[in-house]
Amino acid sequence: MAAQGQCRLCLQERELRSSHLIPKSMYRLLRNDGFSNPNPFIHGAERSLQTSKQAQQHLLCSDCEQRFSKRGEAWVMSHCWRSVGEFRIQQILFKSNPIIANDTLKIYAGSAIPKLDMDKLVYFGASVFWRAAVCEWSLSSERINIQLGGYREELRRYLLDEAMFPRNVVLHIGVSALSGTLDACLFPKSSRTKTGIHRHRFIIPGMYFTMLAGSKISDNERFLCAAQSSGRHISIWHQSDREFLAGSMKKIFAR
Ligand SMILES: [Zn+2]
Repeated sequence: MAAQGQCRLCLQERELRSSHLIPKSMYRLLRNDGFSNPNPFIHGAERSLQTSKQAQQHLLCSDCEQRFSKRGEAWVMSHCWRSVGEFRIQQILFKSNPIIANDTLKIYAGSAIPKLDMDKLVYFGASVFWRAAVCEWSLSSERINIQLGGYREELRRYLLDEAMFPRNVVLHIGVSALSGTLDACLFPKSSRTKTGIHRHRFIIPGMYFTMLAGSKISDNERFLCAAQSSGRHISIWHQSDREFLAGSMKKIFAR
């Protein structure tokens, strides 16, 4: 299904594809045909849904859709949690030596792990946050839209290779340490840190993406950045798993 209009990424008048907020292949991954209701669980800001519907609209031209796929989505989709025992990025990290490790947190220098493609991980994360910011998406009664202010345009230019990754944006990428079933996703949603910095998050199976934006970002937050820190860091943080399990279970039972 196509329509004519301005592509929101390259800004050219083109035939537009039906674009997805979260990759279409993610929905296929999240389906569980073993259950009486096989549709995936999607967690929004307000509530959780189990639906076959997808958040989509005419947003990008074919070239830009291809760019998103080649530069990030395809790699991330093949490395995120796919089934019990098939979780390639976790397997890569478990075989690697962290630069910092304690009982609750392991930090890895992604740039020193050849099997990790940090460029694709960062591009994918940035592309989902940008999509969530560029317009409002709807799924049933859920409305998804994050506010990135001027950083939205900086991210658009980064995604088009016209600019570097924005200096005052930090992207944290976390990988789950869990070994069970992780077939749920959280749409992008926003909050504020205690120090007043805007924080945006989304979750795909087995992976946590957090974006902070603002000039007041601390050195510690910058150290963890997958895009711009010297080691291009990626982490396993058990607190994220605990929050995810607690949050998703609570929402599912509250439906
Ligand atoms: Zn385009």
